[in-house]
Amino acid sequence: MLTEITEFDTIAAISTPLGEGAISIVRLSGEQAIEIANKVTRKVDLTQVASHTINYGHVFDPETDQNIDEVMISVMRAPKTFTREDVVEINTHGGIMATNLVLQTLLSNGARLAEPGEFTKRAFLNGRIDLTQAESVMDIIRAKTDKAMQQALNQLDGSLAHLIHNLRQEILEVLAQVEVNIDYPEYDTDEMTTKLLLEKAQEVSQQIAGLLKTANEGQILNHGLQTAIIGKPNVGKSSLLNVLAHQQRAIVTDVAGTTRDVIEQMANINGIPLQLVDTAGIHETDNKVERLGVDRSLQAINDADLVLMLLDGSRPLEAEDQRLLSLTQNKKRIIIINKMDLPQALEIEQLPTNIQQENVVQISAVAQQGIDQIEERIEQLFFTGIENTANNAVVTNARQVGLLKQAQQALEDVKSGIKNQMPIDLVQIDMTNCWDKLGEITGESAPDELITQLFSQFCVGK
Ligand code: GDP
Repeated sequence: MLTEITEFDTIAAISTPLGEGAISIVRLSGEQAIEIANKVTRKVDLTQVASHTINYGHVFDPETDQNIDEVMISVMRAPKTFTREDVVEINTHGGIMATNLVLQTLLSNGARLAEPGEFTKRAFLNGRIDLTQAESVMDIIRAKTDKAMQQALNQLDGSLAHLIHNLRQEILEVLAQVEVNIDYPEYDTDEMTTKLLLEKAQEVSQQIAGLLKTANEGQILNHGLQTAIIGKPNVGKSSLLNVLAHQQRAIVTDVAGTTRDVIEQMANINGIPLQLVDTAGIHETDNKVERLGVDRSLQAINDADLVLMLLDGSRPLEAEDQRLLSLTQNKKRIIIINKMDLPQALEIEQLPTNIQQENVVQISAVAQQGIDQIEERIEQLFFTGIENTANNAVVTNARQVGLLKQAQQALEDVKSGIKNQMPIDLVQIDMTNCWDKLGEITGESAPDELITQLFSQFCVGK
């Protein structure tokens, strides 16, 4: 990784969401950040203030001499800054006009508009953070629950990066040892060398497998658990969706369904973000419009990580219930008997035995009883031991998973190469390949296009 600060031009962007608010922040980073900010500031000489101070002043347009806004300006000199460059943050009055005018003035006086993610990219290129940490910055911004946030914070702390770094270091040491052995062929070192490689391949492979086990949970926290609520009409799907989504701790962002038949909402279940999909019932129909709704519901079941299958406790089991039960039998599901507040016509004991042995809970959506049981089951189904991984390192996205799998494949190649008595230098190539793939995760050996592509997913000003 680069450790010296690389020189770039000075970039500027609005770092807060655009809209009405008390304060907005315009951020500058680069060698000339302080100089440019000073050019457009009155009442304070930013070149003279101490680093990491916040200062009162006015932004004005040097060309027209007009005042633009009354502001507070933070001056942070390199290297103890987010980008490791000089950084200036101007707190303007919130709102579109003031913020934009301040930005425009900075751009007219020597700054360049930052690309999406460019501040974070500089932090990476200047060696302050690695790629997993950069990704976690994005995850923090997008986190929907406290648990997701905690995971992102751990990653920002570098837990995954450290683990990967150590694995690479171990591989490097073995490769160096192999090199020495090859250089002294007068000793009979073949056996020793293959033993060394095999042991290390085994060891690293185990650690990677452990990391990959966290991937599911890591990605769920990051992207949310796609959850389909299904059941015959009037069983209480909408009621359950509302209870789950509108609990006090829930984050409620309505994702408007494009049609009446599939409604999506976010819920926070003990820190697990749930993307709830209320489906419209799945029945035989010749009606074209209804058919569309049914198809969409089937798709929702197909896409779901979790199915919440509702049965009506006040009515006996019906043909449609049976159909839905068999349709979802291969999905991870919780069977929920709703309306336990009414006289019961359906008891758990009356369900087929194989279903009784599954996750069955009794609730009342209307009386809000038993809801915590659903929450417990969800945790049990998806979160089994995420806390147990080495130093909390968790894999959180598909990019990391893909590279870990490639690294593991390279180790398999090492093992089979040794088994088939391939020449040591070929085995060595596979081991080096593993080292490379791990390096791509942290960015130590990542190609430029990847880095550009990765940072372009960020929002402007981050
Ligand atoms: P959906 O068609 O599956 O979405 O069902 P709804 O959520 O619209 O509920 C249908 C009807 O059942 C409504 O009148 C609800 O008030 C009622 N209902 C839902 N859950 C319960 C419950 O737990 N107990 C009782 N008594 N009624 C419920």
